[in-house]
Amino acid sequence: MTWLLPDLVLDADGVRRDLAVQVEDGVISAVVPALEAPADALRLTRSALLPGFVNAHSHAFQRDLRGAVERIDPANPDDDFWTWRDEMYAQAGSMTPEKIHDVARRCYRQMRASGATSVGEFHYVHHQPDGTYYDNPNALSEAVCEAAEAEGLRIVMLLVAYERGGKDIPPTPGQRRFCDPTVEAYLERLEAMRVWADDRPLVTVGAAPHSMRAVSPEWLAAISDYTRQHGMPLHIHADEQPREIRESLEWYDLRPVQVIDKAGALDHRTVIVHGTHCDDVELDLLAERKAGVCVCPTTEANLGDGYAPVRRMFERGISVSLGSDSNTILDPIVEARELEAMARRTAGQRNVLVRQGDPGPAGYLLEASWDAGARALGLPMPRIAVGAPADLIALDLDNDEILGVADEHLAAAIMLAGSCRLVTRTWVNGV
Ligand SMILES: [Zn+2]
Repeated sequence: MTWLLPDLVLDADGVRRDLAVQVEDGVISAVVPALEAPADALRLTRSALLPGFVNAHSHAFQRDLRGAVERIDPANPDDDFWTWRDEMYAQAGSMTPEKIHDVARRCYRQMRASGATSVGEFHYVHHQPDGTYYDNPNALSEAVCEAAEAEGLRIVMLLVAYERGGKDIPPTPGQRRFCDPTVEAYLERLEAMRVWADDRPLVTVGAAPHSMRAVSPEWLAAISDYTRQHGMPLHIHADEQPREIRESLEWYDLRPVQVIDKAGALDHRTVIVHGTHCDDVELDLLAERKAGVCVCPTTEANLGDGYAPVRRMFERGISVSLGSDSNTILDPIVEARELEAMARRTAGQRNVLVRQGDPGPAGYLLEASWDAGARALGLPMPRIAVGAPADLIALDLDNDEILGVADEHLAAAIMLAGSCRLVTRTWVNGV
């Protein structure tokens, strides 16, 4: 059992001073006036205690592409998402269980230090380079989960289903190791993953049909049936690039979100990753089905995807979570701030994503970093309250980024002017 004694706590209920927080067995077991804390309480001098941020979308191995992909290839002068994808496939092709464990550890170490206490790992490098299963068909996903455990980060393994290169298009050589031969074989691996994670306090499992490009409506329907039965989250990339929408219209005469809906896979457990080019019909559909969207602003900027229509998502009440995706930049505060920045740039206005009753956008940005992320990953709501997970971060009130800011402006200063440099400590599951 541990007692934490910060200067103040900050969560969805705002700033509260003079409280002590007791942590026991991985959860918050008491929140009492500071005067009632025992003498051996851990004093977090000049610190704010917050729930940790939720990173709902990551591909850990892509971390090692940073820097290396930031130059023009003379053979490909028109560099775009698709030429980047070729370089990413080469990186994926070089992974072994040891290598992917190593890069995931380095990625997760910095992720946790930056204030994220849980990650949704959208994991798709599964098999040997030619597509042959390892002796343990989940060897690589287990290696990634063990990396998170070793770095003390909570992980939701979003096990990817990959069927094909596109409609009536077989997988390319670079895609073979992502693929399972049948949806039954994939579901068997998903089931094995669920059983493996069962007694691991930091690991839970969800399903991730990669995209409507890589998975047929038949696979989508079967996977959605399974996740519904087991109450699991279902994540799927959609509408990141215009080409995907052109293909979707050509193949199905529907846009990607409509394809997912028609397959029966769009409901409150579904998270559309990106949604950069969603039109109003798709956004209405997402709102109606209570599906969420995970926006990954710094990656979408890096890949030239475009601006997610966050204001139109906000106006429809769609739950928007955040992801670091390619992990080029690992800073949950910067990632969240980009939501408001995109909304301002596209609207030509200030203070755009402001919820009813809030003074400004900080509340919404924190909601995206906490509640929407937890909802996306099927985790409990991040709070400084009894029963909430002890996934916590301490921020340095003496850091120049927020030094001297009044309590009433603190959340706004952190989210609109701060960065992960504020984070001095993290706890996950009370550790
Ligand atoms: Zn992704």
